[in-house]
Amino acid sequence: MTAATTRSTCPYCGVGCGVLLTPDGQGRLTVKGDPDHPANFGRLCSKGSALAETVGLSHRLMTPRVNGTDTDWDSALDHVAKTFSKTIAEHGPDSVAFYVSGQMLSEDYYVANKLMKGFIGSANIDTNSRLCMSSTVAGHKRAFGTDTVPGTYEDLENADLIVLTGSNLAWCHPVLYQRILAARKSRGTKLVVIDPRRTASCDGADLHLALRAGSDVALFNALLAEIDRRGLLDRAYIDAYVSGADNAIAAAKASDPAITGLSDGDLKTFFDLWIGTEKVVTIFSQGVNQSSSGTDKVNAILNCHLATGRIGRLGMGPFSVTGQPNAMGGREVGGLANMLACHLDLENADHREAVQGFWASPAMPDKAGLKAVDMFRALGEGRIKALWVIHSNPAVTLPDADRVRGAVEGCDFVVVSDITERTDTARGADVLLPAAAWAEKSGTVTNSDRTVSRQRAVLAAPGIAQPDWWILAEVAKRMGFDGFDWTSPAEIFREYATLSGIAGSFGRDFDISDFKDICDADYDTLSPFRWPQSAAKQGGRFFADGGFYHADGKAKMLALTPRDPASMPDEKRPFRLNTGRLRDQWHTMTRTALSPRLSAHLPEPFVDMHPKDADRLGLKPADLVRLTSPHGTSVLRLRRTTDVAPGDLFVPMHWTGETAPSARIDALVAPVTDPISGQPESKASTVAAEPF
Ligand code: SF4
Repeated sequence: MTAATTRSTCPYCGVGCGVLLTPDGQGRLTVKGDPDHPANFGRLCSKGSALAETVGLSHRLMTPRVNGTDTDWDSALDHVAKTFSKTIAEHGPDSVAFYVSGQMLSEDYYVANKLMKGFIGSANIDTNSRLCMSSTVAGHKRAFGTDTVPGTYEDLENADLIVLTGSNLAWCHPVLYQRILAARKSRGTKLVVIDPRRTASCDGADLHLALRAGSDVALFNALLAEIDRRGLLDRAYIDAYVSGADNAIAAAKASDPAITGLSDGDLKTFFDLWIGTEKVVTIFSQGVNQSSSGTDKVNAILNCHLATGRIGRLGMGPFSVTGQPNAMGGREVGGLANMLACHLDLENADHREAVQGFWASPAMPDKAGLKAVDMFRALGEGRIKALWVIHSNPAVTLPDADRVRGAVEGCDFVVVSDITERTDTARGADVLLPAAAWAEKSGTVTNSDRTVSRQRAVLAAPGIAQPDWWILAEVAKRMGFDGFDWTSPAEIFREYATLSGIAGSFGRDFDISDFKDICDADYDTLSPFRWPQSAAKQGGRFFADGGFYHADGKAKMLALTPRDPASMPDEKRPFRLNTGRLRDQWHTMTRTALSPRLSAHLPEPFVDMHPKDADRLGLKPADLVRLTSPHGTSVLRLRRTTDVAPGDLFVPMHWTGETAPSARIDALVAPVTDPISGQPESKASTVAAEPF
């Protein structure tokens, strides 16, 4: 590593790969994988390898803009603070909302959460992570008492069986998939993929279970019932550390495995593999989370690991992989509308009082705020009168996206902080605030296995763009609030680490208070570390010997009954619409579309349809297809493929009104959510299809 090279972290997915950045002094960068980072040991995927092509001034927002006119920071910040204060004075704190993002650094996220929950006095702050893994958060809390991810990346290399369920890991978390393939080669690890669609992850798998969309609870209930039938429950672990097992097993026995649509032979092969292999890791992601029964799906998986004591030990456990680079950091700072900072509970009076005392805050909400879908519904109904969107594009990505776009355009006052003005959401904003981008800002992120890494600034932000923490703190100060006088992200990190010590004193899992006195120099050179860092947990693992966070110290197994997706195919809308990512694009392409080689992978939006369905509709390869739901319409290029089952469709989620106005796919998705997590059912809407 040369003197001019700086360690940082890739800004894309939750793998959290370390990168080495070498600027050329003229605004360009060389990007390489960091051989010493514990997430990737030097590997990068196609997106990470192309990072250098995505920096630069193209499409950047460089100056604050109010009502279409460029202005200076003082004028813009005064206007934002004054309008939020006036709205709160006239309509109360719940008339305003923040919609933030798993792209934000933890320090930025912490400031946004502190401002809304501690000073504005509302819990109306939610994040696009609601669309990503909130069902996992809810499932973890139901089972463990806290949102604790028990697994680590080393488990993947020490497992004898890895089950990927609802996860196209090969495309969405490529470096983790590479690590699994390497272990497979050296160790012979078996791989099972559970997904209605045949994906790239199936290429290296021993078994692909193309279950019916939404039937995961039935599958894992069947597994639990079979574990019991074979007499292979870990009774010692259950008796010592688990409650609710008998009811959960009874419910599992009552559920019908035929719901999965899988053959008896495939089910038996899966059961034999899972039950017969002690070191099993079950990885789950958006296919589990993005469902109206997402929380139950998560708990169905956790039930099987708890029933066999396969948790908390090397090479085994349930493992949620997060979509965004800092989805985990957002959970840690309490960036969801139903959470408090540092894994404390908003609805626990003792936790609230402790955080309020620490912040010396004037007001704290005592109930959850509006979750993402409800927040934008409230926006459309005029109940939210001022909204601040930070690094997100909800006018494209939320379900019923046309209605969301209309709500943004119709709202009295919308502020957008972003690196670009060219998003469907920014087009509806009254105020645009230029934010520093990756490689221009500093702070920390937490990846899927609880490893906290630094992102570091190596490029000057263009124009007068500023980091998010600074923008938020300046607005807070202008609203008359104390406690926002930081001069660096290191100061915010120290405050946040100190607060986590309070969480630790309540016996919560998240405690990084070892870092509360970290000096600026040590923060600058901070190496990746996996929390918790407290002496008691140092080097240890969660849950090997119980230690769960419910009042009785036990984990809970849940009695679960499978539920169909909210909408079932019928004569009018006979197709099931599955949405998802492509290998070489990220979110709404504001960065990845700047790289020609990434854009060359799959350059235009498309719909995958089984040839039998295409023949029935008279569709030839590359024809245009119109998809229609009660919420919207899209026109897409046909790909005939047996990767999807008859009756199923797959459409990528990346294109926007800016890049392909006819392919805003979330315009078709119904605004149906999981009743516990509030996560939208993004993979199971029903649509009609016809030639265009
Ligand atoms: Fe970046 Fe994820 Fe690729 Fe790693 S796997 S380089 S974090 S996009």
